Amino acid sequence: MVAATQKATHEQTKNHNKRLILKTIYDQPETSRADIARMTGLTRPTVSSNVAELIEEGLVEEIGQGQSEGGKPPILLSVVDDSRHLIAIDLADSEFQGAVVDLRGRVIHRECLPVNDSDGEAALQVVYELGDRLITAATRPLVGIGIGAPGLIDAQEGIVRKAVNLDWQDLPLRDWLKTRYGLPVHIANDGHVAALGEYIFGQVRKTPNLVILKVGRGVIAGIVLNGRLHYGDGSGAGEIGHVKVVEEGVLCRCGHRGCLETVTNSRAIVERARRIAESDPDSTLHYLASRLEAINLERVLQAFLAGDKTLQPIITEVGCYLGMAVAHLVGVLNVQCVLICGNVARFGEPLLQPIRQEMRQRSLAMLANQTYVGLSNLGQDIVLQGAAALLLANELGLV
Ligand SMILES: [Zn+2]
Repeated sequence: MVAATQKATHEQTKNHNKRLILKTIYDQPETSRADIARMTGLTRPTVSSNVAELIEEGLVEEIGQGQSEGGKPPILLSVVDDSRHLIAIDLADSEFQGAVVDLRGRVIHRECLPVNDSDGEAALQVVYELGDRLITAATRPLVGIGIGAPGLIDAQEGIVRKAVNLDWQDLPLRDWLKTRYGLPVHIANDGHVAALGEYIFGQVRKTPNLVILKVGRGVIAGIVLNGRLHYGDGSGAGEIGHVKVVEEGVLCRCGHRGCLETVTNSRAIVERARRIAESDPDSTLHYLASRLEAINLERVLQAFLAGDKTLQPIITEVGCYLGMAVAHLVGVLNVQCVLICGNVARFGEPLLQPIRQEMRQRSLAMLANQTYVGLSNLGQDIVLQGAAALLLANELGLV
């Protein structure tokens, strides 16, 4: 029994060392065995034997010689970015997106399937179809499948606790996909994985703490603290979209009235734009007054970007409400990097200005002045990148 325990502990240590070494090479391209030993505190023989295994597995390669510091020039190591593929899936929008990506999150192949109004079992079949296509498209050994999904997701257990739009409740999606594909599967909320995607692949700021506010069909904050995703005790960290901001406001899909989501999400913007198109002859969308259903977020965005002034009050108001949310996040967390992403972030700087202004008016000046509010540069792929990051974190220890 003692021997078995010792063996298990030995295995764990070895695994831990190997992950640490891989992460060091991943984070510092062109590094030598001696650098790794210095950075990790591991002995040279431990580093050498693990590097030999990583090279054998094809994950790491020798890429030439570095500068000599007196003796023999060191051999430089690098991760082979396309030695493995990852399947990344984004279930947060009205189309399910999927991609085959490499170890740096670069998209190798894309698939996109409309969900329309499918929910329950029908929506699940769309996930399977997407998974089947992506697996077929992958050309390298697969690390696994990473998923960003809307709603309350128990990432630990891999269960969708509640996704209202998809009519899923207590759905053991991770285990079903594991059984179907025989691969490791990890799933988390779309806003949560977006934060992880920004943390590992984003270029805006390299910081151990950040908040991503994802504004699309829903509104959710993803929070990374000390380089780790914060899920919350009930997987609901950052569910700020369902905090009431309008007394007796519009009925929300959660059952309450006047939630932040009801005045800031893509549907709220489209609804208001339709009313303006109907009543204001100055609106460039007025020609659609007799068929308002043709006005969608894309049309509103294009009209706004083309300079339609009648739409400005909508975006200003959305920004003000989001600014209130950001003020609360800054007050609670004192995180100095807040990035907006999701469909609604495409309104850009005119949306950011009222967010910043409102945040400053509603939080301690000293905290607000230290806080950067901007847009993520990962664009519409942020959840896919996040889903890949979730896999890298869990399967390879790279986050
Ligand atoms: Zn709500």
